[in-house]
Amino acid sequence: MTDTTLMSIPGQVDPVPVARDITPREDGRVDLIGLPRPRIRELFEVAGLDARQAKLRSKQVFHWLYHRGVTDFDAMTDIAKTMRPWLAERFVIGRPNVVEAQHSSDGTRKWLLKTDDGHDFEMVFIPDETRGTLCVSSQVGCTLNCTFCATGTMRLVRNLTPGEIVGQVMLARDALGEWPKGAMDFGDEETAAHYTADGRLLTNIVMMGMGEPLYNFDHVRDALHLVMDGEGLGLSKRRITLSTSGVVPMMERCGEEIGVNLAVSLHAVTKPVRDEIVPLNRKYGIEELLQACADYPGASNARRITFEYVMLKDKNDSDEDARELVRLLKQFDLPAKVNLIPFNPWPGAEYECSTPERIKAFSDIVFEGGISAPVRTPRGRDIDAACGQLKTAAEKKSRAQRDREAAAHIEG
Ligand code: SAH
Ligand code: SF4
Repeated sequence: MTDTTLMSIPGQVDPVPVARDITPREDGRVDLIGLPRPRIRELFEVAGLDARQAKLRSKQVFHWLYHRGVTDFDAMTDIAKTMRPWLAERFVIGRPNVVEAQHSSDGTRKWLLKTDDGHDFEMVFIPDETRGTLCVSSQVGCTLNCTFCATGTMRLVRNLTPGEIVGQVMLARDALGEWPKGAMDFGDEETAAHYTADGRLLTNIVMMGMGEPLYNFDHVRDALHLVMDGEGLGLSKRRITLSTSGVVPMMERCGEEIGVNLAVSLHAVTKPVRDEIVPLNRKYGIEELLQACADYPGASNARRITFEYVMLKDKNDSDEDARELVRLLKQFDLPAKVNLIPFNPWPGAEYECSTPERIKAFSDIVFEGGISAPVRTPRGRDIDAACGQLKTAAEKKSRAQRDREAAAHIEG
């Protein structure tokens, strides 16, 4: 059972259940994945090692966990044979449980995962010629009911722990066979050559899976620190993008404490339309959001902010919308690029995707305004892995969705 406590989050009326950072499993052992190195050292001391031993062992173990991807203490060959069972009695090296792995015809892969306390969530890997992007979830479900998003129809079950978030990246490395063999226990030049980040398939991470990452700020930050740590997974912050639907009060801290690239789900340029499709807009309006983007620490012409814009037929896709988008981005003098996302349908969705001609015309207007506005090619639609299609069937539906379905049933 995961131990949860209640936490208030800015913009949330009700406190959200969050899991504690250390959750002993039913057998009393503690999962080391997701804990910062000093915390591991502390746990080793509490378990009885003296300070010097705890420091040394935590450094070694951390290296085996994040550089080498081992899941068994027995594989830690530079740790004394007698010490390994001592560790295994007290600690585990966890991974999210894989319920199902699916392969799309376009190479996209989707994994249905399960937490130890039985909640389903998803992660997606999207390879293309120049990079491989892992789309990571931050919550089981989402509290924000964006009307075009399948995840928004789910009830929020809980925030994922740092271990469950960084565990997705580690699981992807397991699946792609991307742990360096390392030179630690071999020492020969050939294996040492593998011990680099070069030539990997998994090159980028986007926090664009299920959930609103800025409503799980602490855990997302701690997980991404492990991903970026040179002693950890060692991925550059320039290769990580966090997408938010616009949780304005957390954006500055995101830039300061995490420092990754920012993507903002704008999706509309007028209050009535954004209020409808991204209901969080009623709390933090467009101007306030764009001001927070202009103030985002680390944004520059070299590191532009991505504005995501889902193309919904007859809703937000007119020439006038495109011109207003350009005007707004210029008014706030934003180092911006726009990502046009063709709407991905899901069962029960009330929208249609704009026509290709409409999307092209919209994109042309933004480009002519001097802002890059490529159209994102949908990936993995055949396995429901595309943006906004993530929804684990096992989870209960939100009340709003149940009401909509009940109404449709009566009308039909
Ligand atoms: N909660 C965060 C991150 C996850 S969503 C956010 O909203 O930004 C990742 C992106 O997919 C967001 O821009 C989201 O608005 C978009 N999206 C959601 N549903 C979609 C759909 N059905 N079709 C296309 N894009 C969608
Ligand atoms: Fe939540 Fe993002 Fe989906 Fe909105 S688009 S419901 S914020 S996951």
